[in-house]
Amino acid sequence: MSMTTAEALQSLLSEDDRVALVAIAGERVAFDEPLAPYTSWHIGGPADALVSVESEDELARLMTWCLRRRMPWLVLGSGSNVLVGDGGVRVVIVRLGGHFADVDVRVEDREVIAEAGASAGMAALTARCASAGAVSIGSLAGIPGTVGGSLRMNAGTDREIGDFVRQVWVQSPSKPQPHAVSLQYYYRHTTLARDAVVSRVTLAFKRGDPAAVRAEIQERLVRRKRTQPVALPNAGSCFRNPDGDKAARLIESVGAKGWREGDAEVSPVHANFINNLGSASAKDVTTLLARVRRAVVQRCGVELQLEVHLVGVFADV
Ligand SMILES: Cc1cc2nc3c(=O)[nH]c(=O)nc-3n(C[C@H](O)[C@H](O)[C@H](O)COP(=O)(O)OP(=O)(O)OC[C@H]3O[C@@H](n4cnc5c(N)ncnc54)[C@H](O)[C@@H]3O)c2cc1C
Repeated sequence: MSMTTAEALQSLLSEDDRVALVAIAGERVAFDEPLAPYTSWHIGGPADALVSVESEDELARLMTWCLRRRMPWLVLGSGSNVLVGDGGVRVVIVRLGGHFADVDVRVEDREVIAEAGASAGMAALTARCASAGAVSIGSLAGIPGTVGGSLRMNAGTDREIGDFVRQVWVQSPSKPQPHAVSLQYYYRHTTLARDAVVSRVTLAFKRGDPAAVRAEIQERLVRRKRTQPVALPNAGSCFRNPDGDKAARLIESVGAKGWREGDAEVSPVHANFINNLGSASAKDVTTLLARVRRAVVQRCGVELQLEVHLVGVFADV
């Protein structure tokens, strides 16, 4: 039986569920919380619950409860690679805080070793690593996500975070205590299990001259400001680059720069970015994404694949 829109918008949580979540995370639980403020696009309806966990034990307890209660959940980092539907999400959104934001950077022989909790920001991590002279850290500079989200996405530029991973610790409902996993890394995805939450990561870099590394980062950040729409809310590149080509080049070639649906706009600066000009809805963005995709298939014969993750209920609300 297909679900009606009204049913899709109804919270999954009972009163007992609410009591159980408060018992796990106290005041760090918010019910029916709009997600727009938690995403870089500033778009998205409410989550049934948004729970901030501050320790590995708390995360383990929450996951165990979700498994026992068969409650869907989703971990959110900085929300810089997700589009949340206007109808929100019928899940428990998990955010990591507290110790998960810790970063420790040390020099060992000729290497820079960085240990970072999953909610540490990539900006803090790259700055600390640069000061220690981590060669190639520049390829991770300017990425606005968390370490955990970046690991899930295997984020990067000319080099990706997976190139530097020494160890990854995860927690999952079936194995809630932190444990190390070995992963394969591909272009914007990895073999990380769907139900695994990255809790901590160790990265290793060759050690070079800190001044040279900082200068390289500065140059890359200036280039980003020149080539990307930094002043408007967006989620970076919407589509993955197809083999041997660039999504931005294809989108620009069909004349899509500046196209609009409501308050969503294909960036005139970088064709693979969609800006929220003020009050764009998820529907505006998905309508624009579909229009761009159609034009590229028709005129270039290439089917673009989404890089951003679509989550929740995409219905008129
Ligand atoms: C202006 C701008 C520039 C960008 N530039 C780049 C770039 O140069 N290169 C690039 O690769 N990307 C880039 N991005 C995209 C984005 O920043 C990266 O994908 C980022 O690493 C996502 O991290 P996040 O914390 O925001 O993840 P979110 O958007 O919160 O989540 C992304 C996915 O990861 C999952 N996730 C989040 N945290 C965890 C965790 N702890 N464990 C397991 N899964 C988790 C989520 O469930 C979701 O499926 C850019 C985005 C913007 C807005």
